Amino acid sequence: MTYWNQTIECMDREAIAQGQLEGLQATLNRVYKNVRHYRKLFREIDFMPEDVRSLDEFRQLPFLTRRDLSRNYPYDMFAVPLREVVRLHTTAFNFEEPVAVGFTANDMKNWAELTARNLAAVGVTKDDVLQIALTFGIMSGPFGIQAGAERIGASVIPMSAGKLREQVKIMRDFKTTVLISTPTVALGLIRAMEKLDIDPHGLTLKCGVFGAEPWAESTRREIEDRLHITATDTYGLTEVFGPGVAWECPAKNGLHIAEDHFIAEIIDPVSLEPLPPGTEGELVVTTIAKEAFPLIRFRTGDLTRIDYTPCECGRTHCRISRIFKRCDDVLVVRGTSVAPEQIGRILNQISGFTPNFQLMVERIEDRDQLFVLIEVTDRYFFDQMRKQRRFVEHLHQQLSEFMGWEINVRLVEPGTFDSNRPVVDKRRFDVDPEP
Ligand SMILES: [Zn+2]
Repeated sequence: MTYWNQTIECMDREAIAQGQLEGLQATLNRVYKNVRHYRKLFREIDFMPEDVRSLDEFRQLPFLTRRDLSRNYPYDMFAVPLREVVRLHTTAFNFEEPVAVGFTANDMKNWAELTARNLAAVGVTKDDVLQIALTFGIMSGPFGIQAGAERIGASVIPMSAGKLREQVKIMRDFKTTVLISTPTVALGLIRAMEKLDIDPHGLTLKCGVFGAEPWAESTRREIEDRLHITATDTYGLTEVFGPGVAWECPAKNGLHIAEDHFIAEIIDPVSLEPLPPGTEGELVVTTIAKEAFPLIRFRTGDLTRIDYTPCECGRTHCRISRIFKRCDDVLVVRGTSVAPEQIGRILNQISGFTPNFQLMVERIEDRDQLFVLIEVTDRYFFDQMRKQRRFVEHLHQQLSEFMGWEINVRLVEPGTFDSNRPVVDKRRFDVDPEP
């Protein structure tokens, strides 16, 4: 079993709790002093950071949502002056609710430490060659993995996503041993190898770390069998870091959360009451070591369970179950989040009103396809087929441009879908084994 930082990764639970309390107190003090949003909230409930003497006491603090972050866009949630910020990213860019995230030099160092732990847990060493097939851009994902791999001393190929034929050639020529991508890209690479008549047996791949979208156990089996590798899941949030929040160890029985950097809670997304370990609910994350962009009780929207029982790998940090669902109507498709409100706004811009519509996602030939089903109304009813086709094509173009990939638009008869369900996910994620 390989650890990057065995002392921390296997420390006893009491020491974890003590470290969390200290990190929390320091973070609360810093945000109270430097972030107007938190100072206002704390004052409203007559809370002073020094009041927190146990981890239970901070549970009186209100939750933080993505909306709070975008209301303070771009820099009002930063807890340090901009001159101390060395890196800026955004979450999946959304004009209506943008969120900017900053990192200090120390945050960058911690980020590399966390992703190094993730990579070392699945056996990455300085002898490895990592192919990062995630899109390098304003999103943080690939940069965090790169930093961790370089910390380990592995060789990094910042390949970016797409260009599957080139990916396969580079993979073979550069003797790639570790693939980092979304599961969708991994499946795409398998198909590209088939077309190029390249036998994965002849490659040097040994493992892959996959994330940024929900993926089934059957997809894991397919990737492992076809590429002859071990495939593990990783979980991140751009608001927090990107990758480096939680990851699977070789036991593949839940994802260890780095508890020396984060406090994880599970709440009922409706009543907002805390839920006991083992119960499925919304994951809430508090950062206790971040300098530039600390988050206190941030509601992730992701549904999972926490397991505090010991893991066979020896790591003592708790595990969350793999994440397949969200508690809101946000769909995660091809590594991007899409909410019905965003699509509704675009439909409204184009046609001057918001029709009844439903978002439906389905996996077709290894690729997630997003369908926008729109009810035909008098306004959308054209006597000329050609006019109607042009209109649908226009919607398709506008929506695809917005998402950055093809979206399917269909006009349907009223009553075709249940209008109380704005979102339908037809992808099948196998049931996660009970923790
Ligand atoms: Zn483990």
